[in-house]
Amino acid sequence: MSDNHIIIFDFDDTLVDTTVIFEKARRQYVEQMVELGFPEEAVLEVLDRYDVENVKKFGGFYTRCFPDAMVRTYQYFCSLTEREENERIKQSLAAIGWQVYEEEPALLKGARELLGFLQGRWRLVLATKGEPAVQLRRIQRSGLLKYFAAVYVAPLKTSGIYRHILQEHGVPPQQVWVVGNSIKSDINPALAVGIAGVHIPHPCTWHYEIEPPAGEHYVVRDLAELKEFFARRLPRSRGWWGRAKKEVGKNEKGFAGN
Ligand SMILES: [Mg+2]
Repeated sequence: MSDNHIIIFDFDDTLVDTTVIFEKARRQYVEQMVELGFPEEAVLEVLDRYDVENVKKFGGFYTRCFPDAMVRTYQYFCSLTEREENERIKQSLAAIGWQVYEEEPALLKGARELLGFLQGRWRLVLATKGEPAVQLRRIQRSGLLKYFAAVYVAPLKTSGIYRHILQEHGVPPQQVWVVGNSIKSDINPALAVGIAGVHIPHPCTWHYEIEPPAGEHYVVRDLAELKEFFARRLPRSRGWWGRAKKEVGKNEKGFAGN
C-alpha cells in the first residue's frame, strides 16, 4: 500500500444517497402540515429557513437540527394563525425528523467497486459532518467502514479538519486528494490547505452546500468515472511498484502513465 498517499472521502451524497431521505421526510412533514390546514409552499419555505438557521444556532450539523426545525415551523404557523400548540402533534412532527437518521441510505452505484479498487493503493480516509455516534452507526450499517483506515466526524467541515488529518497522518497536502459532492463543505476547505479537490456533483444537493469554488479543481460525473480518474493517477511508492509489477508483468506502461 502507498501509505503516504491519501484520499479523503465525504460520505453523504458522495458514497451514499442521503438527501433523498431528507426530501422524503420533508414531503411527509408538509403533508401533515397541510392536513392541519397550513399552506404547503409557505411551510416548506419556513422549514428551510429554520433548518439553515439551526446549523448556526446549534453550531453545526447536529442531529437535532432537522426535527427541531420541524417543530419550530409548526410553532410559527400556530402563532401566526393564533392556534394553540398541541403537544402530541409536536411529537409526531419531530418524529418524522428523527426518523431520517434511522433509515439506511442506499449506496451510490459503484461505491463498493471503487473503494475496493482504491484500497491497498491509497490510504482511504472518511471525513463526514454530523454527530459522531450517529454518523459512525450509519457508516457501519452501510458496510463501507472496512475500506477506511480512519474516520473523522465533525459538526462542520472546515479546513481545520483537513489540516488535522494532514498532521495526524504526517503527509504533505500534495499527496492528498479530497472527494466530495459539496463545493462548500468538501472542495473549498480542501483547496484552502493546498489539497487537490475532486467534485462529484449530486443532483439532490441541499442549497446550503452550494457556493462558488475557491479555485481550480477536478469534476467527475459519477463513481465509475472517479475510478478511471484515480486509475490514471496511481501513487508511486515502493510498495505499490512491487505489487503492480507482479500483477501486470512486463506491461509497465500500464501503470507508468501517472
Ligand atoms: Mg456530502
